[in-house]
Amino acid sequence: MNRRKFLHLTGSAALATRLNPAFAGTPAHVVIIGAGIMGASLAYHLARRGTRVTILEKDHPGAGTTPNSFAWLNAAGKTPRPYYELNMLGMEGWRRLSLEIGPELRIQFGGSVHWIPQSTLAENLAKFQASLRDQQTLGYSIRAIDAPEVRTLIPTLTPGPISAATFADHEATIDPAATLQLLLRRAQSFGAVIQYPCEVTGFDISSNRVQRLHTTRGPIEADHVVLAAGNGIPPLASHLGLPVPLVESPGVLAHTTPMPPLLHRVAVAEDATLKQNPDGRIVTGTDFGGTPNIQPTRAEGEKLLATAAKYLPALKHAKLDFVTLGHRVMPQDGHSIIGHSRTCTNAYVIATHSGMTLAPIFGQLASMEILEGVDVDLLRPFRPYRFA
Ligand SMILES: Cc1cc2nc3c(=O)[nH]c(=O)nc-3n(C[C@H](O)[C@H](O)[C@H](O)COP(=O)(O)OP(=O)(O)OC[C@H]3O[C@@H](n4cnc5c(N)ncnc54)[C@H](O)[C@@H]3O)c2cc1C
Repeated sequence: MNRRKFLHLTGSAALATRLNPAFAGTPAHVVIIGAGIMGASLAYHLARRGTRVTILEKDHPGAGTTPNSFAWLNAAGKTPRPYYELNMLGMEGWRRLSLEIGPELRIQFGGSVHWIPQSTLAENLAKFQASLRDQQTLGYSIRAIDAPEVRTLIPTLTPGPISAATFADHEATIDPAATLQLLLRRAQSFGAVIQYPCEVTGFDISSNRVQRLHTTRGPIEADHVVLAAGNGIPPLASHLGLPVPLVESPGVLAHTTPMPPLLHRVAVAEDATLKQNPDGRIVTGTDFGGTPNIQPTRAEGEKLLATAAKYLPALKHAKLDFVTLGHRVMPQDGHSIIGHSRTCTNAYVIATHSGMTLAPIFGQLASMEILEGVDVDLLRPFRPYRFA
């Protein structure tokens, strides 16, 4: 029995699949557009299975959103349930990758500590407690903790008087730029090729298939094409009949120069979120909802550091190294867009927020859909045509 039939017949409830009727056989050469975390993860998963992979990147690897990410690996508060489950699988996926890749992949599996101050409004406390209950109902590994436990879990922290706190022990964080480069190197070790600068500008399409890509380095042939170009996807997707509406969602983070070990978990206050990368840099930001018109100025960075220093006094003497401005790859309804084009059957798209959390599971599932010609049920709510 071939692997495609086997996957279809044996798919568990969590990973049930159906056969994709438009499947025209396993592609010999997959071209991925974009060398961010999504392109890198997919290249790794495809190349590891012996597929010939070429990544085309218009600028340089990591020129997009990925290095400007906070890269907290979590499923907290992510709804509805199918989206929560995908993020849970993303978190598990990083555990799998750490086995496959080994210690070079540096993941801080310390979980996160989240607290709200005693001075918080009653309605904020009620929201915090309701969110804890909702997450526990979903089966998320999170529990209420008291002030002494906050200090035990992160001894360097000065949270001040608190009214409530939680510990989500399963969460983790990575350095997004370093992890991207590592995945690309591993993909290359399995034979993947990266070409940059090489911008994709259009496609030759006939018989419902992309035959060739137009690029700034000339035409490139492909059996299968994947749009993993982050915020560069919409103009390309429109050639391929793929609806990919994205909205603007900028976010700024301050990065210190490397410091001695201070944080081995993500720390979340009402007005600051902090973590430490393996290179010692503390990274901090405030708003995870998108901050319109924000600029990555040094003054903005100093402001973020001063807020974070209320909770981590060691930051009072920290040196701001740089400030990043990232543009989230934010689908209009907030949820991932992943799957094949209906009009160009050898074209596939992956556009998502929470891409750091989701990269391993999307790399794994997209490679199954592309190589085996199956549709994974788990991805059904996230197909592009919900916007059609
Ligand atoms: C401030 C901030 C905080 C975040 N925090 C988290 C978090 O805590 N946890 C989490 O899971 N996620 C987080 N995210 C989201 C996450 O970082 C993104 O979902 C992820 O980085 C998207 O990766 P990508 O590979 O899809 O896109 P990108 O990293 O943008 O990669 C796309 C690449 O495609 C290239 N490209 C574009 N157009 C073309 C073209 N025509 N031809 C060739 N190449 C092209 C670009 O140059 C770029 O290199 C955060 C994002 C931001 C901005």
